[in-house]
Amino acid sequence: MCRHLVVYILLVLASLYRSTHSAGTTPGIKEVFIGRCWQYQSISEHNKLPELKVNINCTKLWLAFYDSFAFKDPCTVGVDDYKTFFDILYTSRKIKNALFWSGLHDLVTDFTFINDDYIVLEDTLTGYLLNNLNWCGGTDADGLNSTSCSKMCNVMTPAWTLASSEFAKQATGVSKVLLNATRANNKDAYADGSFFRTVEMPELQVDKLVVYLASSIGKEVRERCADSISMENIRADAEAKNIQVECIDQPSLVLNVYCLKYPKAKECVNKDNFRSDSNADKEEARLWKTVCLILVAVVAVLIVYITISLVHRAVCYKPGDYKYSHSWSFSKKPMLQDDEVENNNDIERVV
Ligand code: NAD
Repeated sequence: MCRHLVVYILLVLASLYRSTHSAGTTPGIKEVFIGRCWQYQSISEHNKLPELKVNINCTKLWLAFYDSFAFKDPCTVGVDDYKTFFDILYTSRKIKNALFWSGLHDLVTDFTFINDDYIVLEDTLTGYLLNNLNWCGGTDADGLNSTSCSKMCNVMTPAWTLASSEFAKQATGVSKVLLNATRANNKDAYADGSFFRTVEMPELQVDKLVVYLASSIGKEVRERCADSISMENIRADAEAKNIQVECIDQPSLVLNVYCLKYPKAKECVNKDNFRSDSNADKEEARLWKTVCLILVAVVAVLIVYITISLVHRAVCYKPGDYKYSHSWSFSKKPMLQDDEVENNNDIERVV
């Protein structure tokens, strides 16, 4: 009995600890960071795009990042601690096809792998370096905590806040955002407290924001463009900044990515579900429909005209009448007798 009680208390304490702590600093973080930095600049395709191109000393960048939190109590680390690091990364270049997202980290990775003309934060050097890393300061010899990082005093939050805010400031023209209409725990797609809502949206200065309301395969769809609290909130926030908003439910671009991954899913088996719903696609479909209708109308008019002509000719003209008529010039000449030919020639000569 007593043993059971001790095990139970230990389990409760462990789950409490897990809810307040995440994994410790990523093993080999220095090597991963510097390696990613070199990879980005010397191999990756991103660094070939003019708006993303950088030329940065990777060792200097690592030291600026490390100094932001190493040997520090996590509860004292804020955005100011990352200032040197972000000063090195700063760029004023604008990004035309920025894609923001919230609540679907995995989908966005697959989506941008296939649709590579969108630019997400993770395509910039900052996002590329930090994506999926864990870090926090501690009492280990290297000034890091390799065992666990506090969720209450999360030193990654100020870094991602700065990264997200700088990325949003760079966006221009038309930006897109991928939101999750099937978010877990009844969370709204435009979730309270999310980086997209609290950090990126307030910094956006674009002409238009296109919302892709994506639904994970096999999950209950909680929100649709026409009936969604998230869309009401986004429209209110965007319109206050003079940003136009368009919303597309489960765009074909997203469904196609899901269906490549889960080809046997109910939503993917019927090819008709691969809907084409971008405005350009709809416009093209409308144009083709109009062209087809015009063609059908022209063919119908021709058939009626030819039929009337044939009936008219059959009813109104006897073979003898033909030789005095010039109005049906396309009709076949009737066979004439030899003396009629002569008479005919006489008539033509007189004329
Ligand atoms: P989200 O809720 O899906 O969170 C995105 C990621 O941030 C998740 O992987 C999550 O583990 C992590 N995260 C969430 N809250 C955090 C916090 N308080 N501190 C540290 N990490 C936290 O979506 P979101 O919050 O709207 O963030 C996504 C948007 O912000 C994107 O548009 C992206 O540009 C940017 N962003 C990206 C990352 C990333 O991990 N690549 C992290 C933060 C922000």
